Amino acid sequence: MELIAREALKSKIQKNIEELADKTGFFEGIRMGYESAVHFVEQAPTVEERKHGHWIEHPKHPIGDCSVCGERVPIYSGSKKYKSCPYCGAKMEGVNDG
Ligand SMILES: [Zn+2]
Repeated sequence: MELIAREALKSKIQKNIEELADKTGFFEGIRMGYESAVHFVEQAPTVEERKHGHWIEHPKHPIGDCSVCGERVPIYSGSKKYKSCPYCGAKMEGVNDG
């Protein structure tokens, strides 16, 4: 997934709307298309950027503290470490997929 900046996209489209502000006919139709595009950009769903962290491990116990939220959790499922924090959802660096 790639994230785009809503306000940057909107201002780019709005610049086109301004350039067509006094036009009629065909170009007025294009301007209305841009206006409708601004509406869709405003309505587009928002995703929260996922934080990245790492497990601060405790050598004698199979537990770790999340470097992002600080919650202490059992970090192993069998011999594999969990790839994300169950409390804050941070993606853990240095944990192999699979
Ligand atoms: Zn966390």
